[in-house]
Amino acid sequence: MYLPKLRELTEALRSLFSAPYTTKFPKVPYTAPKEYRGFPKYDEEHCIGCGTCAQVCPTDAIEIIDDKENRRRTLRINYASCSQCGQCEEKCITEKGIKLSDKYSILVSDLKAPEVFESVEKEMALCEICGEVIACRDHLQWIKERLGAKAYANPNFLLEFQKEFTEVAPSNPKDRIRREDLIKEVCPKCRHKIVVRDEF
Ligand code: SF4
Ligand code: SF4
Repeated sequence: MYLPKLRELTEALRSLFSAPYTTKFPKVPYTAPKEYRGFPKYDEEHCIGCGTCAQVCPTDAIEIIDDKENRRRTLRINYASCSQCGQCEEKCITEKGIKLSDKYSILVSDLKAPEVFESVEKEMALCEICGEVIACRDHLQWIKERLGAKAYANPNFLLEFQKEFTEVAPSNPKDRIRREDLIKEVCPKCRHKIVVRDEF
């Protein structure tokens, strides 16, 4: 009858004088193994602002905030919603725009604290006719580089080439679409209208 009690007492004494099995986290920071899938981080240089990561995120943790007035797109990850699944990294079209880090823990009392968010900001190209978003400038550049000489066939990319050599001032919107609007930075809908409704 006393045997189990004695065994428990021995175990208690042994654990009292032996080293702890658990880590001292969070007092002592813990470094995650290299393979650990932590929170994703953007790489400003390689992200082109395409928004694919936001589309594939299964938890809707990535938000696309378009500020047309200032022509800025912000991609913002909310770590409180991120499940660290790695889909954003896997499906990133440049393969380098976003990478999972070894960061696994955020200790905050307020879920709106800046540490809970990770973001990247990009300049947007807007349609010169209707003002809708075409894409981010870096995205246009990325496609243009892949198309090579074929990019000259598209007026939007043609203007991108031109901008490398001279400043191209945006034109003022007119009361109706004209044929000359073909050589403008416009969205697919307006380009369709320019071609189909050509009255001249
Ligand atoms: S380039 Fe990659 S990280 Fe940047 S918006 Fe596109 S998918 Fe996301
Ligand atoms: S790791 Fe998964 S859940 Fe987190 S932002 Fe990327 S796609 Fe979304």
